Amino acid sequence: MSDYDFLIVGAGLYGASFARLATDDGYRCLVIDRRDNIAGNVYTENVHGINVYKYGAHIFHTDDDAVWKFAQRFAEFNRYTNTVIANYNGELYSLPFNMYTFNKMWGVITPDEARAKLDEQIAMCHVDEPKNLEEQAMSLIGRDIYEKLIKGYTEKQWGRKATELPGFIIKRLPVRLTYNNNYFNDKYQGIPIGGYTAWISKMLDGIEVRTGVDYLKNREELDKLSDKVIYTGMIDEFYGYRLGNLEYRSLRFETEYMPDKDDYQGNAVVNYTDSETPYTRIIEHKHFEFGKGEGTVITREYPSDWKPGDEPYYPLNNERNNKLYEEYRKLALEDNVFFGGRLGNYKYFDMDDTIAAAMKDYAIICAGE
Ligand code: UDP
Repeated sequence: MSDYDFLIVGAGLYGASFARLATDDGYRCLVIDRRDNIAGNVYTENVHGINVYKYGAHIFHTDDDAVWKFAQRFAEFNRYTNTVIANYNGELYSLPFNMYTFNKMWGVITPDEARAKLDEQIAMCHVDEPKNLEEQAMSLIGRDIYEKLIKGYTEKQWGRKATELPGFIIKRLPVRLTYNNNYFNDKYQGIPIGGYTAWISKMLDGIEVRTGVDYLKNREELDKLSDKVIYTGMIDEFYGYRLGNLEYRSLRFETEYMPDKDDYQGNAVVNYTDSETPYTRIIEHKHFEFGKGEGTVITREYPSDWKPGDEPYYPLNNERNNKLYEEYRKLALEDNVFFGGRLGNYKYFDMDDTIAAAMKDYAIICAGE
């Protein structure tokens, strides 16, 4: 008999959720992570009373009652609602696309006026069946908004022309004919009070966790500990890139602590949507928790190319990569390893998708045990 029922590789949100669910049912779990800390990319670090996101800001939002209930077991959530400002060469707009955006762009005041203007803009684009992100955006919102608020940001973010990107990326953003500037449509939204690291730590309460342990470097020894491996890292790296490597988009963060400044930008998130500014956004961390803390900490987010060894952030879900991923999945069918989470699934998961996936996968795996 093995020491553990599950060896979970990765102490991020997926790994921690899976471990919690399995432990609650009496399974013995060991969670390992090659980083020296838990919480994966939702890791936050306390700097002078401010929870600083080391791997980019995360705002929890979901429509799923079960996911929300699960999330709340490990922290109380504040009532933070994400509202984003776009800075286009010094002109400020409200995001996501709402009546404030349309008013600033075209001077329209009522939803009817905005609808008429949008219809006119969309008709001028002559797109019937959008085949890429540019066409998708123009058929959704028209040329003016596309050029000022989407094109520059998107091309910086993804490092390629909007005409070479899939349309689904932009479909995440709501378009509203109301003065509601909540960035998300979901029923529930907030940030765990105390930060995400404490939240994940509570999720892992009573579960054995070893950080600074690299599965791929100690595989033989670690495999002996458990019959079943849940792997939340990159599937291509797991297989030594033998079929080629999947592509990602990476990010570089430049974080600055300003001890003498109380408020740098007046909002948690300001996007820079022109193409010249090298970063896509500036996050001011204290605003996610209503301005608490001494001084302020800001992070500029620079999108960057990715090569093996860099932190992978966004999967590049184009045809080539999706096909390659399916090939890796075929290899996985023959192994006693289950691939989960954003990296294991090669999918642009939000946090709630990650927890929902852990719940679903756990139910499937358990049914087979
Ligand atoms: N986007 C944009 N302008 C913005 C913000 C977002 O064009 O000011 C586009 C961009 O292509 C981005 C996508 O919308 O990749 C999704 O944005 P979201 O804010 O959901 O991205 P995330 O927070 O996951 O990086």
